[in-house]
Amino acid sequence: MQLDSKVMDIVARVFDSHLPTREEIITLLNIAPHSTEAGFVMASADAINRTSSNGKAEIHAQIGVNLSPCPRNCSFCSFAAKNKVFTERNELPVEDAIQMALKAEEDGANSIFFMATGDFSLKKFVEISKEVKTNLKPETVMIANVGDFNDEEGRWLKEAGYIGMYHAVRMGEGRETSISPEVRLRTVKAARDTELLIGTCVEPIGPEHSVDEIAEKTLIGRDMEPCFSGAMRRISVPGSELEKFGMVSEYRMAFLVAVVRIAMGRKLIGNCTHEPNILGATAGANLFWAEVGTNPRDTEVDTSKGRGLNIESCIDMFREADFDMLSGPSVIYSQDNVLY
Ligand code: SF4
Repeated sequence: MQLDSKVMDIVARVFDSHLPTREEIITLLNIAPHSTEAGFVMASADAINRTSSNGKAEIHAQIGVNLSPCPRNCSFCSFAAKNKVFTERNELPVEDAIQMALKAEEDGANSIFFMATGDFSLKKFVEISKEVKTNLKPETVMIANVGDFNDEEGRWLKEAGYIGMYHAVRMGEGRETSISPEVRLRTVKAARDTELLIGTCVEPIGPEHSVDEIAEKTLIGRDMEPCFSGAMRRISVPGSELEKFGMVSEYRMAFLVAVVRIAMGRKLIGNCTHEPNILGATAGANLFWAEVGTNPRDTEVDTSKGRGLNIESCIDMFREADFDMLSGPSVIYSQDNVLY
């Protein structure tokens, strides 16, 4: 039995620090599912992933701070006004946000993300963040997952104690959302201008997405010079127009996580998958999210009562995948993890 020499050559060169071209990423994405080559790609991504992170996985906790029927109307999001999952508008009391953050700290999260809907006032987000920050250990890493912002607003986030942000040009951006890719990329530039580290991901992937678009979004993410990438599947929002397409299996997602891991080169420390699963952790993911508060993939107001996993469950999965856990502040979100 012989493996496809083209696939072997691409992967071998990534082990030698090559960054795959668009055509090479497409070649990998087109590998037949369940084939020996697909297994080779997943095993290679696993090896690269464990080496880049010294075999240490990270858990980042995400706290959703508000609920809104969001007018940006991203078809895949349960906050989208048109999906009619949430009709009320409210926000987490600051004291609850503080308690959730303290719990995440105590349970061993390597960073804490604060997430707000795309229409939430950034001024208010910054006020809440400042109050939470004063209650946390000085070394706790805070990351913002918010809507689009400009340079001035980026500076507000820095002043509130954020060292990084999460942002992506999502699958179907401008088609399944009312936000253009250019607006998303302007925010990435604002983050860079204000020295916020950028985490990204190829998301949310559904069965209907083409190999070309997955490759395109992988490369857009790589061009952001992020501290991590990864891949996440779309969770069907009941009643949404995308529900008819269904969801990608965890097995397929593990393969896509592997391709993204390889596409990002061997040096980048972080590669995530969401939602957390063991297959992903054995095919190139070393970063999971634990979630509390609101969640754009859930129909529960507090995702800890719905889809959101806690830190302990994420740690259990990584341990079952033979990872050690990083103790202390995130290495992924650190100034040393800047590669290109
Ligand atoms: S993904 Fe963000 S911007 Fe889009 S509808 Fe949901 S909350 Fe609004």
